[in-house]
Amino acid sequence: MDKLRFQSFASGSSGNCYYIGNASQGILIDAGIPVKMIRKCLRNIDLDFENILGVFVTHDHADHIKSVGVLGEKFNIPVYTTELVHQGIARNYGVTEKLFQSKRFIEKNKAFTIGDFTVTAFPVSHDATDNMGFTVEYKDKRFVFATDLGYVGEEAALHLEQANYMVFEANYDEQMLDNGMYPPHLKIRIKADTGHLSNTQCGQFLAKSYKNHLKNVFLCHLSRENNMPDIAFETVKSFLDDINIVVGSDIELVTLNRYIPSELYIFD
Ligand SMILES: [Zn+2]
Ligand SMILES: [Zn+2]
Repeated sequence: MDKLRFQSFASGSSGNCYYIGNASQGILIDAGIPVKMIRKCLRNIDLDFENILGVFVTHDHADHIKSVGVLGEKFNIPVYTTELVHQGIARNYGVTEKLFQSKRFIEKNKAFTIGDFTVTAFPVSHDATDNMGFTVEYKDKRFVFATDLGYVGEEAALHLEQANYMVFEANYDEQMLDNGMYPPHLKIRIKADTGHLSNTQCGQFLAKSYKNHLKNVFLCHLSRENNMPDIAFETVKSFLDDINIVVGSDIELVTLNRYIPSELYIFD
């Protein structure tokens, strides 16, 4: 019953929300989908808001924060992020319910214990007010969340290399982006060091830093316009093939759907 569990409720520029916890309590990473949908997803795994110890927010882009106000103020779920991200949330017109009593401040690189979980935020390079990934430790396992990052910096690499499980960005296929409909300034923004991670960057990093304690990789934040699940999967897999890591036995590789919740993963 107390095994580590993970489920993606939604992943992508239309909204992000992940559950990480056990059978009775856990945390949410980001809350960029409607509150109703979050509740429905939780109920599907026999949980409700009272089982949620906190929401941890990676950054203040709308697809990550839309529902934090309601979760915090109406359902009393503490909202944890840096002071800068809280300032960004307060300024964001998309967040109609503002945070007051549910605001909680964390600092990067400072481990924070909540229930049975220890959460450490680490800096990533992106273009919001402030940007971070999270390592969630539970017993002897580490689950790392790294989404919305233009490249894998040194600190993010250190966290990712220690992961047993990770949600890791594979936002775009370079050819699809180059040949696609996006205006030039948006293409530049996405490719920038403060933009998003491509399938190739994702695969290259995994191949370069692979450790045999890494068991599950969940590819997240796939672009609707500039990526396809099978292209992301095959691109990343090809880098793992190159170092003779067999997807399906050495490592599980899954692309997270933009709108459909993933299955519930229960780890040994
Ligand atoms: Zn995003
Ligand atoms: Zn973002």
